[in-house]
Amino acid sequence: MIIDERMSAFIDSMDKGNTPFLDEIEEYALQTQVPVIRKSMQQLLRFLLTFSKPKNILEVGTAIGFSALLMSEYAPEDCHITTIEKYEKRIPIAKANFEKAGKTDRITLLEGDAMDILKELEGTYDMIFMDAAKGQYIHFMPEILRLLAPGGLLISDNVLQDGDIIESRFAVTRRNRTIHTRMRDYLYELTHHPQLETTVLPVGDGVTLSVKK
Ligand code: SAM
Repeated sequence: MIIDERMSAFIDSMDKGNTPFLDEIEEYALQTQVPVIRKSMQQLLRFLLTFSKPKNILEVGTAIGFSALLMSEYAPEDCHITTIEKYEKRIPIAKANFEKAGKTDRITLLEGDAMDILKELEGTYDMIFMDAAKGQYIHFMPEILRLLAPGGLLISDNVLQDGDIIESRFAVTRRNRTIHTRMRDYLYELTHHPQLETTVLPVGDGVTLSVKK
């Protein structure tokens, strides 16, 4: 938790909630240890979608489709969402959720490793939501920059690693050291890249918002 727990609970208490079907998926995810975006991130996404009205969204990291379905609720009617997932156990659940929600024409699920799939994608997206393996964000960066439209918004979740990011690399466990180094490199790239203007927000587990100039 990167912000005070009581403050976080207070902010979450003002959350207006989602549709019953989204609540159902979120509850299932919590019970089965499937990671889904936190309340504060949901709130931020709803705001950004309403504000920027994207027509074309790319998500890296579908899990069971919670955030893709949430985005489809708040994006314009004619917005298409493409989402990538590689974990075979989650793919059929995500597909079933898109079907149950009647959103298969608005959401395309690409199955496989984003490392390969991103290279094959053509065209541009006016919103990209990065919510996959944190240690890979830096490797996705060249393709993400190519796929982000001018004026497009890149949202990267979980960038502050529950606060570990500010610790020395020697203070984090050896297991997390590679991710720690890569995430610091990613944050540096985002904040110093000549094509991007980026803000780092202590929301949820840390979020960056980057706009392509
Ligand atoms: N965005 C989802 C939501 O809030 O409903 C949660 C996504 S979860 C935090 C991250 C997902 O990214 C996992 O299901 C994982 O299998 C997937 N993932 C991680 N690395 C990936 C990669 N290289 N290619 C495709 N999917 C990946």
